[in-house]
Amino acid sequence: MVGLIKHKVRRHPSDCVNCGVCKARCPIYKETSKESYGARGRMALIKAFSDGELIDTKQLSERLFSCLLCGACNKSCPLNIDLTRSICEIRGLLKHKDKKTHLLSYLIKYGFRNPKNIFKGIGFFDYLCQHLPFKEKLDNLRRRYGLKITPSKTSLVDTITLSKAKESIGRVAVYPGCSVNYLFASMGISLIEVLNQLNYDIVIPRKYFCCGAPQFAMGFLKEAENIARKQIEVFQSFSLDAVVSLCPTCVHMMSDVYEILIGETIQGIIDANRFIAKHTKNILDISDNISSLYTDNMVIYHQPCHSKNYINAGNEIPSLLKSVGLHLHYDDTCCGFGGTFRFIQTGLSNMLTSRIKQRYSQSGLVITSCPNCIIQFRNHNINSKHFIDIIKYAMKG
Ligand code: SF4
Ligand code: SF4
Repeated sequence: MVGLIKHKVRRHPSDCVNCGVCKARCPIYKETSKESYGARGRMALIKAFSDGELIDTKQLSERLFSCLLCGACNKSCPLNIDLTRSICEIRGLLKHKDKKTHLLSYLIKYGFRNPKNIFKGIGFFDYLCQHLPFKEKLDNLRRRYGLKITPSKTSLVDTITLSKAKESIGRVAVYPGCSVNYLFASMGISLIEVLNQLNYDIVIPRKYFCCGAPQFAMGFLKEAENIARKQIEVFQSFSLDAVVSLCPTCVHMMSDVYEILIGETIQGIIDANRFIAKHTKNILDISDNISSLYTDNMVIYHQPCHSKNYINAGNEIPSLLKSVGLHLHYDDTCCGFGGTFRFIQTGLSNMLTSRIKQRYSQSGLVITSCPNCIIQFRNHNINSKHFIDIIKYAMKG
């Protein structure tokens, strides 16, 4: 059984000593230079609100919903304070939100009970936009608001549920997460092919639930708890060596956050980065010609915030790609997506991406290990791939 990511005991906001280390790492503070939009400022607001010194206002909501939940503050705080958890908890108590945040709250609370319908709606909207006469103008507008999203024709879960390896050494489940399941099913297929080549049988449970990260981010802790319980029930019914996911946000949610919410996690949940890197030898044996593919171009490896700040699973794949001859430039600047943040704080989100856009656009390719970063890059016309597609190519030679 693959080891679980241990939940570290973290301290409460009331322990904060205002040192400002978190502020220096906060991408939103760096962008706005405003204390109340930075990590330390948000801690001060949370303390004041909890102590009854601040009332619930739209301004408070604006400050708390302008956080990416990137985790840079959690990782840097010398007192090990769980800032992001406190932010999510307080978000759930706020009533005076702006219209956009209210709308998104309802959509996530009720719509994500059945994510399939949400993505069907997105698919229908996409189809309409593709068939209107002013398609190009509309495309630009959709990109600006992060709404240029084209779902896969069939979700991963509806495409495949079992895939056997030739000489099986074990069985793992693939948890796709909503982005891979509904938007990038082909990435899920790549993962299955790679895992099969590593001699693992694959199972994908037909019963699919969102991991609960959007609900947790909006402060719907009860809903997130319910999802955690259902999810554990689904995976407990299989005998598995691991549960592998391509999305670091899902891995963080199903390990650390489930532990906080209900004291249990998905047994064996692991980031695909880490799982595949464990079998490096198998990949290196057959990946000779990967380097010839991108020699003329600079390739950037974009490190996702959730990999770096929450689950510490990030360096394995860039090291692996480098070791097979890929000239890789490592970059861990936040892409600006942030899930719900992208839709609530569209302007800020675009500003963050614009910081890296020129550099990233000039590179031949951006490789990353998070499907959500890819949504953001594609909305900004940045050529990007999930590492799993590169590994699949390498393995096939
Ligand atoms: S780093 Fe920790 S202790 Fe320092 S200001 Fe931020 S939350 Fe407070
Ligand atoms: S999670 Fe990221 S954006 Fe939010 S306060 Fe912490 S460092 Fe800033």
